[in-house]
Amino acid sequence: TAIPRRRAVPALPQGVTAEAFEAAMADLRTLLGAEHVEVVDQALRDGWYMEHPNTHDMMTILDDEEFVASAVVYPGSTEDVQTVVRWANRHLVPIFPISMGRNLGYGGAAPRVRGSVVVDLGRRMRQILDISAEDFTCLVEPGVSFYALHEAIQARGLGDALWVDVPDLGGGSVIGNTVDRGVGYTPYGDHWATHAGLEVVLPTGEVVRTGMGALPGNNTWQAFPYGFGPFSDGIFSQSNFGIVTKMGMTLMPNPGGHESFLYTFQREEDLAQLIEIIRPLRIRNILENVAQLRHVTQSVAVRGQPRSAYYAPVDGVVPDDLVHAEAAKTPTGDHTWAYYGTTYGPAEVRALKLAAVDAAFRRIPGCRKIDTAAFPADEYFWSRDRIASGTPDLHELRWCQWVPNGSHIAFSPVSPIRGHDAAALYALAKRRHAEHGIDFFPAFCVGLREMHLIVEIVFDRTSAAKKAAALACLRDMVDDAAALGYGEYRTHLALMDQVAGTYSWNDGALMKMHEVLKDALDPNGILAPGRCGIWPRRYRGRGWEM
Ligand code: ADP
Repeated sequence: TAIPRRRAVPALPQGVTAEAFEAAMADLRTLLGAEHVEVVDQALRDGWYMEHPNTHDMMTILDDEEFVASAVVYPGSTEDVQTVVRWANRHLVPIFPISMGRNLGYGGAAPRVRGSVVVDLGRRMRQILDISAEDFTCLVEPGVSFYALHEAIQARGLGDALWVDVPDLGGGSVIGNTVDRGVGYTPYGDHWATHAGLEVVLPTGEVVRTGMGALPGNNTWQAFPYGFGPFSDGIFSQSNFGIVTKMGMTLMPNPGGHESFLYTFQREEDLAQLIEIIRPLRIRNILENVAQLRHVTQSVAVRGQPRSAYYAPVDGVVPDDLVHAEAAKTPTGDHTWAYYGTTYGPAEVRALKLAAVDAAFRRIPGCRKIDTAAFPADEYFWSRDRIASGTPDLHELRWCQWVPNGSHIAFSPVSPIRGHDAAALYALAKRRHAEHGIDFFPAFCVGLREMHLIVEIVFDRTSAAKKAAALACLRDMVDDAAALGYGEYRTHLALMDQVAGTYSWNDGALMKMHEVLKDALDPNGILAPGRCGIWPRRYRGRGWEM
């Protein structure tokens, strides 16, 4: 292992001279303690998911130097966060808060504006402030991961009573995932909808508590999200209006048993009919969780073998017949679509629901219910089973090994649960993937009345050509989708302006309102400029958008 190269100068924020930066850093060290401030003066190192960098996006789609921090600061309390915010206002240095920075596929820990000081909340603010077995709620700081919350519940002997809803990868922060509106796979999968109460440091340094948290002496903060007056929580998710320092979350009661199941469907064109079958079952809660309908290419890739094990050429798409032949060798067998679902409750309750699902799915010719009982322990099915029952997992990372230096970036449009919409989104994404020579990994995650299509592009981050193809493919898909009336639910830093631009109804009225809020709450424009396409006045219209 080579000694990391020193950088000549840290990535300075535009408009801040080296002297001014040095002086600002000296001030910050005095305020927080030198041990809690790190200037990024070493070469960037990527690491991997569990040892990810907090200085940049280890899966960068642009040039390595684009989204890079100049320094990282580690506040230990809400008061420290206020101190950092006031410091940023004095020195006019942009800051970028992260909880744990494992937001892979959407930018990781990287700031949108090069040279921002990353405020890494997760390293020191990692307390679980409350777990209530009476109310089925908890209150956490930004450094609490899904793993940590799950382990704490087990350690307190509450594992039989309380479940945490976890996303595909459990190493991320509960707060970070929730404010970015990530999803999990139990009936509590919509994390934003199941949170209750925030504590937020505003860009000028004041602290607010939302909902019942505004009432001194209340005991209802985590039980009733709304309080009185406007429901302000929304402006602190997918935005740059505040730094969340505490969040309440509801926990799911253990339903008294669960059972995961796997169905496969043979033909690509079964998609539309299948989605039509899923919709009423899902809305009526017979299909109870945010289930996944995954494509065969991903079924093969998640086995963890690189694509070169199946197909020698480095460029172009792996041929369909080859993917199907490989799928046929797996315990799941050949298929185009694999539906991973879970049913909850005691056995007799589950049996009723499973029978209804079975009868409905079997209307599709070639539908197979896979006998998973004999599946080996490391089969992907069991990872989905753990996640759908509140146990964090990391198996999903395996498809990153599909290409060397595997990185990923997502196209994630939402639509109603309709066959027509599924087919339209599938077709446009498939066409663009073929055009750009990229293997196609679509998965539909079915919420209650909508579905997220998550298409992960896996690329070699050391290849300029592969990065360019991935980015071009994404940009095309965003435009194609918008032309048909579809928008993304979340996006990578590099696409935030483009995606925000698609939400343009009435001459961009919504963004204009966001800008009014931004300028009022953050007059100096120091907090995460450009995040989610929201630029403060100081930056607006000066060529920052991409
Ligand atoms: P995770 O580690 O859970 O994947 P991150 O910490 O990377 O999540 O958070 C995802 C994004 O959400 C960050 O890039 C940041 O812009 C925003 N974010 C995360 N935590 C906070 C917070 N506490 N306050 C404000 N914004 C946050």
